[in-house]
Amino acid sequence: MTEPLVKVENLKKHFPIKGGLLGKTVGEVKAVDGISFTIQKGETLGLVGESGCGKSTTGRMLLRLLEPSEGNVFFEGKDVLGLSSNEMRKMRREMQMVFQDPFASLNPRHTVEKILEEPLIVHGVKDAKERKKRVKELLEVVGLNSYHAKRYPHQFSGGQRQRIGIARALAVNPKLIIADEPVSALDVSIQSQVLNLLQDLQKDFGLTYLFIAHDLGVVRHISDRVGVMYLGRIVELADSEPLYDNPLHPYTQALLSAVPVPDVEIKKERIILKGDVPSPSNPPKGCAFHTRCPQAMDVCSARRPEFKEVEKGHYVACHLYE
Ligand code: SF4
Repeated sequence: MTEPLVKVENLKKHFPIKGGLLGKTVGEVKAVDGISFTIQKGETLGLVGESGCGKSTTGRMLLRLLEPSEGNVFFEGKDVLGLSSNEMRKMRREMQMVFQDPFASLNPRHTVEKILEEPLIVHGVKDAKERKKRVKELLEVVGLNSYHAKRYPHQFSGGQRQRIGIARALAVNPKLIIADEPVSALDVSIQSQVLNLLQDLQKDFGLTYLFIAHDLGVVRHISDRVGVMYLGRIVELADSEPLYDNPLHPYTQALLSAVPVPDVEIKKERIILKGDVPSPSNPPKGCAFHTRCPQAMDVCSARRPEFKEVEKGHYVACHLYE
């Protein structure tokens, strides 16, 4: 197999909890607690889990918008965490982010032209004429028109604003796009248009995606592989087809049971999980899912299951498969 574009090893982000009069560290929130994965060039890896599972923190650590507490990130074999801030700035040209809320991430006082020119200026495109030409191209690539350049973000619909967010990410010809819940804030009818656009751009520009979402239904058609996260760890990782057709981890099974199926003939029994997601500052011992798992056994609260390959390319962390 060729070298992956992205390789993540045992990545952790622990936030200290300060308390008392002296503001001492009294505990930590283990937002991401030792995850490893690769993303091949041209691949889309979906990363899914309920809010607070650490998926967005993971995306931000790849770009070093948040500094990891431990672990390694390699991009094209280069050690990302070992780069100086100057080297990291150059590296960000290769790795861009699309955010969930395009309205919050676009400066309301800037025209679209200014918003799209900004990354070009940061990455050294000095010629104003060349920048204007690129802005026009970018707007067309994402299905908008060149006359949109003079408008402000509030003059667009939610779907159009996300197209601007995507154009901004594409401005500097990145290789990797980390899309953090890029369609969650959009109406269902608009979601598929934006997903189709992302797929078309991937084909046209050979992009690689890390696609973060809380809903397994959303990532199904866009992902080649999917990782499911629970309380800061990946509990299952597999190619999309086996993951959706034969989910192994009880948490994945529960998440999937909540995804509507288009065929009304197919009856699915919804698995309702008891309780809420426990706090990542005090995760349950053993398997962190045991407090909610419908199939929990005695061993589950005593020992953490290993994350291991149980079928070719299909990894799971669960005592049912040991
Ligand atoms: Fe459920 Fe036990 Fe598997 Fe955890 S290890 S998912 S508690 S069966």
